Amino acid sequence: MDPEVINFKVGFEIHQQLATDSKLFCRCRPKEIDKYGETFVRKLRPAQSELGSYDPAALFEFTKMRRIRYHAAASSCLVEADEEPPQDVDKGSLDTALVISLALHSDIGDELHVMRKIVIDGSNTGGFQRTILVANGGYLDVKERRLKVQSICLEEDAGKLILDDGTVREYGLDRLGVPLIEIALEPVTCKPEEAMQIALTLGRLLRGSKRIARGLGSIRQDVNISIDNGAVVEIKGVQRLDQLVKVIEYEMLRQQALVTIAQKLRDRKGVDKQIVDRIEDVTDILAESSSKVVINSLQENNSVFKAIRVRGFGGMIGFEPYPDIRIGKQLSELVRFYGLKGIFHSDELPAYGINSEEVQAIKNKLRIDSKMDAFVILGGPSFKVDFALEAIIQRLNMALIGVPPETRAATFDGKTLFSRPRPGPARMYPETDVPSIPITSSRIASLSDKIPRSIDEILSSLTKKYRLNKKLAEQIFDSDYFSIFEEIAVSVKDISPTFIASKLTEDMINLERRGLDRAVITDELLIDIFKKLDTGTIAKESVISIFEKLMKKEAGSVEDAKLALGITSISDQELDTAVEEVLKENMSIINEKRFEAVGILMGRSMAVLRGRADGHKINSILRKKLEDMLMRTSGSGASPSAPA
Ligand SMILES: [Zn+2]
Repeated sequence: MDPEVINFKVGFEIHQQLATDSKLFCRCRPKEIDKYGETFVRKLRPAQSELGSYDPAALFEFTKMRRIRYHAAASSCLVEADEEPPQDVDKGSLDTALVISLALHSDIGDELHVMRKIVIDGSNTGGFQRTILVANGGYLDVKERRLKVQSICLEEDAGKLILDDGTVREYGLDRLGVPLIEIALEPVTCKPEEAMQIALTLGRLLRGSKRIARGLGSIRQDVNISIDNGAVVEIKGVQRLDQLVKVIEYEMLRQQALVTIAQKLRDRKGVDKQIVDRIEDVTDILAESSSKVVINSLQENNSVFKAIRVRGFGGMIGFEPYPDIRIGKQLSELVRFYGLKGIFHSDELPAYGINSEEVQAIKNKLRIDSKMDAFVILGGPSFKVDFALEAIIQRLNMALIGVPPETRAATFDGKTLFSRPRPGPARMYPETDVPSIPITSSRIASLSDKIPRSIDEILSSLTKKYRLNKKLAEQIFDSDYFSIFEEIAVSVKDISPTFIASKLTEDMINLERRGLDRAVITDELLIDIFKKLDTGTIAKESVISIFEKLMKKEAGSVEDAKLALGITSISDQELDTAVEEVLKENMSIINEKRFEAVGILMGRSMAVLRGRADGHKINSILRKKLEDMLMRTSGSGASPSAPA
């Protein structure tokens, strides 16, 4: 599929947490925790915007009528609980947003205003998220291409979703209010792999500022995707670059499939404006069914089955222009949002234990006598079925147009799932509790030396400063460990930056691939490990084992990890004795091979000393002692092969 031909467009929206000491509108420290203290419950309802309209996304959430429980933490106060007005904007965060705006050649406003953006999924206690439009326009160069920047915003992060069981949602307040920068690029036509390059370049620019938070969840990549004859679909929650490529490829197929289906439907005769023209309760028909799905569903309180007649859709609900992409699946995703398990439709029945007599009885009740017509059945608690039916009817109407504008969530394996309708323009209004912020030219001038350099400049200075090869310089810069790498590299004496960088990149990735959680290893632990390595109390060979013990949570500190691994610090005296011991035990090899025995001896020494002393140190002691020994034996003339 050629992106140019179908006018495939991708717009990026990156959300990046900033590394600051303070939340955006209060002075709590942004620190994620998993133990909470106080809890309280709220119920949110949508309010009209100042223009008198309701936001469709807000109404949609409201139909689910959820209760929301919030968990407060040491890193939250009354501002997060929405019990106290917000304080001034954190200066450091705003400076960071300004620096990044300058780096993107974006137009910074003379006076910035805090706005409220309606969010009613409960992720914010006030029912809105505060956001500041910092700059407009600008550009980002990606290889030979110049991409336009749409806007740069500074906003507060949402609460952390802890639980969602369908009736209650629970959020942690520790993450609520953490400063985020949001950068939106103008949509461009591009191939999926180019999209990865764009995301990577933007990410590098942010990392170059050295003012951003690291770790999983600290960056969230949203993409807006559209094709010709379609609508803009917003995909949320892409966490990794390889996932981004897959998501874009999937969405390109999905949207193209929906456009194809719409075209086929419009070409049919008899598909007019009234697509769904009969709704019937078919509970009595299915009451005696032997289908397990039906029986389970009917056991729930007030359960019903309702069927609708869909004009002109016969054969089209199960039709797949591309593997696994069909209207039936889109409908199933939609009803799951209302807490239903899925749908049945005429293209797939009889199946799932529903037999042909039951299918015929449903058709009779709906007065379906043509192969051109289809039906969809929904089952579950009656109020949920009624809400979902309305959404299904709207969705079927959209099938004639093609791609519905909606927000979808990226799945871990690179697909997308319906999450909610796209929010309308009525969702912003001014935050009157925070005064507007004038941006003076002297403030901008004072930040000019903080603008991140270009990636090429950064990499070449890294290769020079730390004598890293280009690949490793790139890897460490692209990793989450860049800042801590620099901190460690300048604080140790005897460990090469190349060694540190390779442990923090390749080895960390290998451990992560084995399913271990690297987030467990904090900066403090890393510093401790490399300091101990520097002073020789742990050996280079032990670093990975220590990482592993910590990641497996079998040790909470470096000392614990050493104990668990049986690493006892060995003194120089003990090391000498141990090496001498190895030499004594291997006299026959030494006599036979002379200095060439060093390789075998090193292997045997390491077998005894691995993890308790540095390999290089063992090697130099071994060589020295072996030399001395050979000198002595040759000096006494004991060896016939001794050089003259
Ligand atoms: Zn606070």
